[in-house]
This record gives sequence, structure tokens and C-alpha cells, in this order.
Amino acid sequence: MPHSSNGQAGQGTGFNTRAVHAGQEFEPRTGAVVPPLHFSSTYAQEGIGGLRAGYEYGRGGNPTRDALQEQLAALEGGRHAYSFGSGLAAEDALIRALCSPGDRIVLGNDAYGGTYRLISRVLKPWGIENRPIDMSQLDRVRTVVEQGARLVWVETPSNPMMKITDITALADIAHDAGALLVVDNTFASPYLQNPLALGADVVVHSTTKYIGGHSDVVGGAVVLDDDELAEKVGFVQFAVGAVSGPMDAFLTTRGLKTLGVRMERHSENAQRIAEWLVGRPGVEKVLYPGLPDHPGHELAAKQMRRFGGMISVQFTGGEAAARKVAESTRLFTLAESLGGIESLMNYPSEMTHASVKGTELAVPENLVRLSVGIEDVEDLIADLDAAIAQLQP
Ligand SMILES: *Cc1c(COP(=O)(O)O)cnc(C)c1O
Repeated sequence: MPHSSNGQAGQGTGFNTRAVHAGQEFEPRTGAVVPPLHFSSTYAQEGIGGLRAGYEYGRGGNPTRDALQEQLAALEGGRHAYSFGSGLAAEDALIRALCSPGDRIVLGNDAYGGTYRLISRVLKPWGIENRPIDMSQLDRVRTVVEQGARLVWVETPSNPMMKITDITALADIAHDAGALLVVDNTFASPYLQNPLALGADVVVHSTTKYIGGHSDVVGGAVVLDDDELAEKVGFVQFAVGAVSGPMDAFLTTRGLKTLGVRMERHSENAQRIAEWLVGRPGVEKVLYPGLPDHPGHELAAKQMRRFGGMISVQFTGGEAAARKVAESTRLFTLAESLGGIESLMNYPSEMTHASVKGTELAVPENLVRLSVGIEDVEDLIADLDAAIAQLQP
């Protein structure tokens, strides 16, 4: 592959420099500063088997996807990244690559509902067992992991309960039992937290969220450092083909270049809003790791750069109050998903987490989840103020 020296952004450089430059060499023929978007599904050969730049067929390799994968690897601090058509496609490939029928996955009991559904309904018939558990109770986790696990799977902060788990301690527990630690780093993004550096073996992302950042593309990624594990994931990516298309990869790369500046603003706005929500009439509990009385505050301060843009709020008026707030904001749009520049409001028990209703992963019915965008925070607070004011008798 042609490389120019100006696009090489090594591990020694800062996060934002890597975000802008990794995988983004200018195009040597024209000098185009933004690498061109390659739609071609196949590549002309110089004689049979003579590949000009290593590319043969689009499922196996595409320069636009490679640029994204290089950028993702550089930002998570792993040597290998694989991008997929969705976060769940990435998780599916990862589990099929690293597990065999009969293996057990120990999963956080407030894992993303779709992850639980994938494991318990799609992969269970294939022979994967799963054991949901509260990941913040590490003594209990150790006992369960010692009973047998191939993967320990954690989200921190978790969705939507915003629990914080000590990644380094959990990695030790997993490794002592011969298991691998997988961290779903979607909520934090690689700007706020780098699980591989903290001892995790694998990072997964729904790049649909903060990495894409503009609510205009669905995608996922697996990042790892170990060559042997990486080869297995790469093989499933190639053999199954749930890859990102070129346009999706391009949009994700474009979003990822501004991740650092966006996360600063998301975190700043969320901190202000969380502090404003605390003690408001009608508000029972504010779940945000940036609040000093959050049980995971100190740990989050240690393993995260800032506290992120996600807040969950529980209301004293129960389900009716939560539904009323969720349905009456104007700037916060009622919608699934998170991590975009625009603020979103979600009622998890009927929306993102409907698939776990009635299971041990069910979400409280008086809870709404906010994905705080990058708008002016005064406008966001005024919007919430109007919605919450209706709750007062
Ligand atoms: C959205 C999400 C996923 C699934 O990703 P998709 O891109 O929707 O397939 C997985 N984990 C978390 C934490 C998510 O928020």
C-alpha cells in the first residue's frame, strides 16, 4: 500500500493528533488530502495472483475500511482493529472467533440489551452459555469466573445504570481463571478510556455511537493487541463478511477525527446538567459518575479521562413521571441510540432495553437516560426544566 510520511501518527503522539492523522495518508497520485473513498468491490491483477497493493476482493480488504481500522487501532492503543456493519455484528464475530460450543461468557447484569439477546438467543443454540452478574461486586465475580469462563464481558460505565467497574482488577480475575476480558467501550469511547492499557484483552465498540458521533451511520469494531487472537477475529470477518461498507467506513473515519473535541464538550455539558438535576423536585436519583457521591466516582476518575455524556435519572413519581418527562422535552429528541452531537432522551425499559423486560437485566421503570449533546448547555437545561416542572403538584 502506498504510504506517505505525513500520515504516520505513531503511539508517541497525542490522542487528537492520532485521531486526525492515523490511517489518513494523502493520496499520492493527486495529492488529495482526504484519502479517496474506494467503492470498488474488486481489484485488477497484474497477471494471475499479482496483487498491486494487497487488495483482491472487497470482503477481504478495502482501502477505506483499512483507513478506519488503522485509525481505530491507533486510538485504542491496540495493534489490530476490525470494523463491522454494526456493533452487534462485531460482538458476534468476536464471540464466534474466540469461543467454542460449550464455553461460558460471564456478562455484566446490566449489559446492553442487544448483547444479552445475541448471546442468549442467537449464540445459545450454538452452545454458548451465559451467566449475568453484577460486575461491580468483584468478590462475587471472582467466584463465578473461577467456576469456568472463556470470556468475561463488561461495560463500564454500564448502560443505563452507569455502574463503574475496575477494569484492571477484573482483568486480573479473568486472567487468574484463564479467561479473557472483553470491554464494551462504547459509552466511554477511546478518548475517555483505553481498556487495553488497563489490562483488558479485547475492546468492542458500537461505532454507531460516539465514534461515528453524528447519528448517521451504524457500525461496530473489535480492537485487540494479541496477534493470535486478532488473526482469529480477522478470519471470521473475512469468512462471514459482516464488514462495514466503504461509505459507512468513510463516515465513521470522518466522525472519529473530532472525537476528542466532542467528548470534551459532551462531558462538560453532562457534568453541568447532572449537577443541576441533583435535588430538583421530582428527581429521585441522578446516576452520573462525575458526581462526587456516585459509588464509582473515584474509580472513574482513575480509569477515565473525563466522565462522559451519558446520564440516567430516576423520578420519584415512578413510571408515569419518567414517561411524561421523556415525552415532553423539545431539544432532547425521544429516540434510541446515543453519542451523537444532538441530545437524545430514551426510556430504556420500553426502548433500548425492551428486549430484557421481565428478565434479570430489566431496567427500573422510573428511569430515563439522557445522551447529552454538544448544544449550548443553558438551552438544554431550560428544556429539561420545562419538562420536569410539569411533575410538580
Ligand atoms: C448500541 C450498543 C451496542 C450495539 O451496537 P449496534 O451498532 O447497535 O449494533 C452494543 N453495546 C453498547 C453499549 C451499545 O450502546
